[in-house]
Amino acid sequence: MRHVKKNLEDIPPSLNSDEAQSDIEKIAFKDPEAKILDTIYKGSYKDAEGKSQSEVRDFLNKYYYGKCAYCEQTCKAEIEHYRPKKGVDEDKTHEGYYWLCYTWSNLIPSCRYCNTEGGKGNKFPIINNAKRVKNPPLKSSKLDHEKCLVNKKPLKDEEPYLLHPEVDNNPENHFEQR
Ligand SMILES: [Zn+2]
Repeated sequence: MRHVKKNLEDIPPSLNSDEAQSDIEKIAFKDPEAKILDTIYKGSYKDAEGKSQSEVRDFLNKYYYGKCAYCEQTCKAEIEHYRPKKGVDEDKTHEGYYWLCYTWSNLIPSCRYCNTEGGKGNKFPIINNAKRVKNPPLKSSKLDHEKCLVNKKPLKDEEPYLLHPEVDNNPENHFEQR
């Protein structure tokens, strides 16, 4: 892993679409009809040959050069939710950070291994358990997007054990050669 400077304002249109904006409010408020759609967080589209592509992957590839955010293997990256969207292994009462499912700063590219059960899966251990964020941050009865940013309070105060390439400036300091 290495530090990556992703422009947090360079948001893929699929994450900013009217549909995404309206759905995320429903998801945050647990509207029974609301569903997390991979077509939105991937930004699915068909290329000229009719193959399924991902606009969000295209955007991430600009910043990660087609590599996995964790192991840096060149890969056809999957769209990984840094904070898991459907449950947290370390806290069975936690429903997952579902309100971050379309948040640009929570989406990073991952190879299949790092993204699945053999790798990260739904693990998200933190140092500051007392401050684990369990509910969506609200402002005037709407989702407070400012407080959904990975590098801002209250998420920052959780002090995750897992490094984030866009937040931790010197990931190399946490590794040793064997
Ligand atoms: Zn990987």
